[in-house]
Amino acid sequence: MSTLEIRDLHVTVDEADGGTKEILRGVDLTIASGEVHAIMGPNGSGKSTLAYSIAGHPKYTVTGGSVTLDGADVLEMSVDERARAGLFLAMQYPVEVPGVTVSNFLRTAKTAIDGEAPKLRTWVKDVKQAMDGLRMDPSFAERNVNEHFSGGEKKRHEILQMELLKPKFAVLDETDSGLDVDALKIVSEGVNRALAGGQNPGVLLITHYTRILRYIKPDFVHVFVDGRVAEQGGPELADSLEETGYDRFLAKA
Ligand code: ADP
Ligand code: MG
Ligand code: MG
Repeated sequence: MSTLEIRDLHVTVDEADGGTKEILRGVDLTIASGEVHAIMGPNGSGKSTLAYSIAGHPKYTVTGGSVTLDGADVLEMSVDERARAGLFLAMQYPVEVPGVTVSNFLRTAKTAIDGEAPKLRTWVKDVKQAMDGLRMDPSFAERNVNEHFSGGEKKRHEILQMELLKPKFAVLDETDSGLDVDALKIVSEGVNRALAGGQNPGVLLITHYTRILRYIKPDFVHVFVDGRVAEQGGPELADSLEETGYDRFLAKA
């Protein structure tokens, strides 16, 4: 049983003109193993900034507050150390890694996180099983990471990583965006398999739309507006957002 705790997190970003802008303005969030927390909010509210701040992206500067994993200071950790500590980020816009195949990328990441190379036979079996579950053709493993991937392939590749790397906490940033219904189901099934698996991860599911929450059931829903959590509740909060949208929160902000 693990806990990821975010306390009064303030984050700024450097702007092109040399100035800085505060994006996160005091975020509080506690996620335990096995819990699914949906973060829902309008575009530009700071959802991806929260995801990148947890993962340790250098563009974002934490100016206040804390992030701890079972009491350990995540903000003091390098990006690699965060991954080894069990944090995983599926990015909203996954980046190309030219010249590195999916197969090599996964094995290298697994080795780095576990501190030893995975046993070849079980690893090959695990990769095949995860790829089959995500309806990926075996040839996908020999393609370069995210190079000429379709939007749906990029998202499936993110979930493939999550299933194989078995993080303690996974932040999924708009993994649902741009997916048709069939792809959304496949991706959601992958997340649900990870949730049912032995690692019992906590999941922070960032989304703009309620659609994915029909397939992945959140335990908690946080409405994110203007760099902080404006309201939290259970799954019923997502239903009310479906009807009213974000307007009533924007009016308050
Ligand atoms: P969301 O994911 O909710 O759409 P983001 O976290 O991407 O929101 O962005 C929140 C705000 O911060 C936006 O106004 C965006 O323009 C700004 N922002 C985010 N990242 C950067 C960056 N690297 N440089 C400049 N502004 C940024
Ligand atoms: Mg957010
Ligand atoms: Mg975003």
